[in-house]
Amino acid sequence: MKNLFTRFALIPVLLLSVLAGCSSGSGSDSSEKDEAQQPILIEGPMPIEAEKFAERLEDVEEEKSGTFVFYKGTVDGYPVIVSKTGKGMENTAAATAVAIEKYDPAAIINQGTSGGHDPDLHVFDIVLGKRTTNLGSLKTSDIDEGQGIESTEWKPMDLMASEGSAGEDPNAEKIRYYKGDEELLAAANSVKDTYRKGKVVEGTIGSADVWNNEFDRINWFHEKYGTSVEEMEGAAAAQIAKAYDVPFLGIRILSNNKTNDGEYNPDTAAANQEYVYEVVKEYISTLSKK
Ligand code: SAH
Repeated sequence: MKNLFTRFALIPVLLLSVLAGCSSGSGSDSSEKDEAQQPILIEGPMPIEAEKFAERLEDVEEEKSGTFVFYKGTVDGYPVIVSKTGKGMENTAAATAVAIEKYDPAAIINQGTSGGHDPDLHVFDIVLGKRTTNLGSLKTSDIDEGQGIESTEWKPMDLMASEGSAGEDPNAEKIRYYKGDEELLAAANSVKDTYRKGKVVEGTIGSADVWNNEFDRINWFHEKYGTSVEEMEGAAAAQIAKAYDVPFLGIRILSNNKTNDGEYNPDTAAANQEYVYEVVKEYISTLSKK
């Protein structure tokens, strides 16, 4: 009886695999299918920066790893995972690595709020990270007891320059920029007219577990690193995405800007997710044309 049942149950499976074999014309149809189904990963640090997007997913399932929450669903029938990473570089690096290992994403967008470094950018404007860089990776000047703290003399330190000592390596005394993926940037640029609460520009996103509120220090980063905005996650996600060679883009809305008295506005978090939703739909449509 059992045998008979298994035999009948197998018939549709066999039929399906025969059909799949016919349509692709090759034996490697299952790996091709997997590739087409690689999800897009959207990261947001705080609940207000992830949950609005998660609400827009269809057929959502929630999964947790440690403190990281993954909302697995679809947009226009394509798999999209929203990840609530928690704030800061460590949470973000770990959540990104866990997501890559578990879900093998086709692309990663790290998005959320940020503080302006550029006086031409206002609260509700959005920066597409043509470049993302770590503002907390620094080598201090070499000065003796009682000689003070010279933070404007500190040099950028590129921890990815070599596997040797970054402290001793003059080649490490440079700024490391992670480039935004061209196709993600193109998708983001092509829907920027859908966003009406501010402007959308390409720029440089700087990250560190620091909230800078000293005007001169903000200016120092703006001039030395070319930063448009600062936040606490993008460079960590970009570094891990690069380690696994996954296309990456940071998309950050200004929730505050000290350089032009832009007061903190938490409503920006939802506005950014609405825009990123448009970017994701556009990117999915380009993936399906490939
Ligand atoms: N003011 C917020 C605190 C946010 S903590 C509150 O009270 O809820 C910092 C988070 O906001 C981080 O995820 C960071 O990416 C983002 N952020 C926004 N503006 C920032 C700024 N000026 N400097 C650093 N991080 C900023």
